[in-house]
Amino acid sequence: MQELKEKIEKYGTVLPGNVLKVDGFLNHQVDTDLMYKIGQEFAKHFQNQGITKIWTVESSGIAPAVMTGLAMHLPVIFARKHKSLTLNDNMYTADVYSYTKNTTNRISISKKYVDKGEKVLLIDDFLANGQAVEGMMEIADQAGVEVAGAGIVIEKSFQPGGKELRDKGVEVYSLARVKALTDDGHVVFN
Ligand code: 5GP
Repeated sequence: MQELKEKIEKYGTVLPGNVLKVDGFLNHQVDTDLMYKIGQEFAKHFQNQGITKIWTVESSGIAPAVMTGLAMHLPVIFARKHKSLTLNDNMYTADVYSYTKNTTNRISISKKYVDKGEKVLLIDDFLANGQAVEGMMEIADQAGVEVAGAGIVIEKSFQPGGKELRDKGVEVYSLARVKALTDDGHVVFN
């Protein structure tokens, strides 16, 4: 998506540890016009597949997921993140290691909002090692829910998540694919 790539080039900054900071339009301040177009793009790609709901993980996935839900006229669930390991019979849970924060969070989705036989589209802001998407897939598995695919705003293709998911047969659709973050702060696209 050309407009997204231009925003990344203009406002993205490269942090140590191969982290791309995009606080100016995605992760802190949200560019709503851009996010609206992102939602429409995901909706177009995943249309006519019988998708019943959008899933994401709080908090950075919420903006693109809600815009996708709006475009598809579908509800959005954002999995909650907990530091402590609270066990709860009413929740589906999975453990997710956070690449950027170097911590493991337990993510959870309430059973109340999941019906058997559903087909969900997973949305996230970044794809790096694939942990967040894998965590949502684990929950889908527990819940007997089919996964239509994953819509990713920015995939860091030099990290293994995208390849691993595609090798498993998951339809991963990324709007910008970054193949390198250079030492002098440049973003190189695929
Ligand atoms: P994964 O679970 O695929 O390893 O990482 C994806 C999650 O980590 C995303 O939900 C995102 O919040 C965060 N993340 C991974 N890499 C980056 C990055 O380069 N920049 C930002 N802002 N977040 C990232």
